[in-house]
Amino acid sequence: MIAIVHKSAYDTDFLILTLEAAGFRVLTGRVFAEIMQNDLSTEIIAGFAIIGDEDESGINFLRSLMEYNIICQRVALSQTQNVSIIRNAINRAHVNYMLDYPAEKNELERNLKKVIRRYNLLNTPFKKFDLLSEVTEDLLDQNEKYRIEATIDPLTKLLNRRSFNKMIQRFWERWHSKQVLFCLAFLDLDFFKKVNDSYGHDAGDHVLRTVAAILLSNQRDGLDFAFRYGGEEFTILSLTANQQEMELFINRISDLIRKTIIKINENDQINITISAGICSSNLVQQVDELIKNADLALYEAKNNGRDQVVVYNS
Ligand code: GH3
Ligand code: MG
Ligand code: MG
Repeated sequence: MIAIVHKSAYDTDFLILTLEAAGFRVLTGRVFAEIMQNDLSTEIIAGFAIIGDEDESGINFLRSLMEYNIICQRVALSQTQNVSIIRNAINRAHVNYMLDYPAEKNELERNLKKVIRRYNLLNTPFKKFDLLSEVTEDLLDQNEKYRIEATIDPLTKLLNRRSFNKMIQRFWERWHSKQVLFCLAFLDLDFFKKVNDSYGHDAGDHVLRTVAAILLSNQRDGLDFAFRYGGEEFTILSLTANQQEMELFINRISDLIRKTIIKINENDQINITISAGICSSNLVQQVDELIKNADLALYEAKNNGRDQVVVYNS
């Protein structure tokens, strides 16, 4: 069983030690994307974050568990008395437990048991009907597997296209109802076919994973979401102040990818570049147009010689 802990400015050592003593494999990360780099085939029971008075990162971290469709207990530790922060944690991250921080060792252990028990209750069907429950339990296990498969691309560990379709709809609704601006970027690897042709499909896969890892480690919890849209195409949805900010962000990603030396085998290492197109929600009337325009901008980037970022303007 896995427990996930948000690494922050707060002391989490005591928490990690207690979790390990309770038999958990503990994964930590400053941003949620770091967690996604691990092998997550074992059951994730709970996610923990310390919530400070002026710091939303813990809440965003717990919220990411939901964005990634990982069903587990979300536990916030906090010493805050500020009602709006508590309300925010509950509403945004749907926390199941608010515990005191710093915590007494005994109290933490006691609460940990509750967290596990509650998780098991949520995830196992009614025990009275033994035969039936066995069947249901099997189904639930499969369900868990399918849920992860339905959300995450197995090669790159990025959210998949299905997740993209869902999330862009959510972003769009928020833009519509609350004017929360967002940008979409389409990214496509340049001359990727050559990598496959020269070094083989496995090398190509390795390049895709490398690029995905760069996207993951540069996304901000709750603000940026990277997806594998298809083959060697990626998309990023971002809550940014404006299109220029998105352009800077994508250029930074593009620079990072260009500078990364990718080791293919003992003798060969290569560099790869990307082309990208960007469009922001305030320039369109419908969500389909947003996708079309970002794709048009990408097409222009390719036509202009690749290795560049083009911003759509009407
Ligand atoms: P351009 O600069 O115009 O984008 O050229 P390109 O070669 O990148 O584009 P093209 O669309 O011709 O080729 C994309 C290639 O990506 C073709 C396909 O075999 C490869 N590809 C798609 N999915 C995968 C994958 O999962 N793994 C590997 N190794 N290759 C893939
Ligand atoms: Mg392509
Ligand atoms: Mg390509």
